[in-house]
Amino acid sequence: MSIAQNIERITAQLPHGVRLVAVSKFHPVEKIMEAYGAGQRIFGENRAQELAAKAPQLPTDIEWHFIGHLQKNKVRMIMPWASTIQSIDSVELLKLVNKEAARVNRHVNVLLQLHVAKEQTKSGFTVEEALKAADEGAFNDLSHVTIAGVMAMATFTSDMDQVASEFELVHDTFLTLRDKHFAGDPHFKEISMGMSDDWHIAVKHGASLVRIGTDIFGAREY
Ligand SMILES: *Cc1c(COP(=O)(O)O)cnc(C)c1O
Repeated sequence: MSIAQNIERITAQLPHGVRLVAVSKFHPVEKIMEAYGAGQRIFGENRAQELAAKAPQLPTDIEWHFIGHLQKNKVRMIMPWASTIQSIDSVELLKLVNKEAARVNRHVNVLLQLHVAKEQTKSGFTVEEALKAADEGAFNDLSHVTIAGVMAMATFTSDMDQVASEFELVHDTFLTLRDKHFAGDPHFKEISMGMSDDWHIAVKHGASLVRIGTDIFGAREY
């Protein structure tokens, strides 16, 4: 199937209100334009240099989401392009993003990345760390950042019960944060979870954003 057909097939299966982030990492701008031609407007990239190289060549109404581990010295590089940084994994990074956004007078949406997977290589706040940071006020008083929700990746496993229980934990944590710390804040509404192999499960557990690469663009060539 073509990229356009894949976009249409997936979008047709998403419940109302769930948005697709087309993960275009490692794929050339021509392929992104194919997805764009099918109506796709939200794209995800996980490397700063790659985002900064591709974005200027593409239409300005694309909404870029940064989804990879963000090194502190790369924040400035993505600031002109990223409308949402999904992968905020520490309070220091959050503060730096706010500072850099203020410096260039931009406003950026962010998601708090939660570490729920079994792999140590994945980054993010543990549930306890996220709740503690919230208790300590780390998510308050950010002038140029809007915390719009949470993001997570499940363990890379064929055990779909485990994946489901991790998504469940993300959903519960989202609700706890929302009710305790973002009560009455309409911006705190996103749960970004689900990739090519597990997005159906993520949607069942309350995802509002799914991040899909392979199922749209085919295998990546590294
Ligand atoms: C690459 C990537 C995806 C998409 O993965 P696929 O399995 O190709 O759909 C989603 N989220 C993050 C954070 C990624 O790095």
